[in-house]
Amino acid sequence: MRYWLLSIVLIMVSCASPTPLVEPTVSPSPTLVPPTQSVTLPTPTTKRSLPSPTPQFHERRLLGYSREGRPIVAHRFGWGEVKVALVGNIHGRTEENTYRLMIEVAAHYRENFMEVPSEVTLWIIPTINPDGLANGTRFNARGVDLNRNADTDQDACPENDWSPDIFDSEGHIPGSGGEHPFSEVETQILRDFLVDAQVVISYHSQAGLVVAGGCGEGPSRQLAHLLAQATGYGEAESIGYPVTGSIVDYLAFQGVAAVDVELTNKVDAELERNLKGIQAVMESVVEIVSHEN
Ligand SMILES: [Zn+2]
Repeated sequence: MRYWLLSIVLIMVSCASPTPLVEPTVSPSPTLVPPTQSVTLPTPTTKRSLPSPTPQFHERRLLGYSREGRPIVAHRFGWGEVKVALVGNIHGRTEENTYRLMIEVAAHYRENFMEVPSEVTLWIIPTINPDGLANGTRFNARGVDLNRNADTDQDACPENDWSPDIFDSEGHIPGSGGEHPFSEVETQILRDFLVDAQVVISYHSQAGLVVAGGCGEGPSRQLAHLLAQATGYGEAESIGYPVTGSIVDYLAFQGVAAVDVELTNKVDAELERNLKGIQAVMESVVEIVSHEN
């Protein structure tokens, strides 16, 4: 009888001890609940409402149409406070490799979007002169050199003032500055699009140089210095002949850090060294735009 009682007590004790093991079998219901919740509750509503408040990382925007009706397009990457713009191919077919460079740079940042710093909105215009590119010329469809058509009469250096008669690498060309500053639809589109830009790089070929816009003062000089170091291109005060009405001279007077970058030849896009330059600029962009004049 005592053994019988004892064995009952022992059985009760041994039954009591496995209780902790039983607890996990109670928990299946919590593990079942989350899937049902996450499927029914947030997914459809959240995903539908996301695109409107959060802009897409990459946007392709139509800025306008050239004289002959070709679209002028810009690609945007990111949504930071500082607008950095890369302008390709202002000189049409003569500098076609700058168009290819811009296309390749845009493709790079589409794939490597995390390389655009959060404070930057990067804009890329592959060609501001689609008519010149299509028609096999440096000029736009009205025979105007678009990099001689800006209003550069306001700054402290008179030698860059707009003129109807211009010089380029081929020599003196009467009438190619346009009828008056910003007389061309392409330069008007560019001026209006860049009105809130803080850093602008305009691409050319083939002097292998970085040239600061303006009269040698301010953030443009700092930008030129940084770009020359990062790309390995030389840094020069001028291209070697008088340049009137250039877009970077106009922008520099507006307080924009603006430079011309000249590739080393008319064929290669020189992507790698220019990516290094663009990346260096974006990573120092706060320092560049806060530079005191
Ligand atoms: Zn050029």
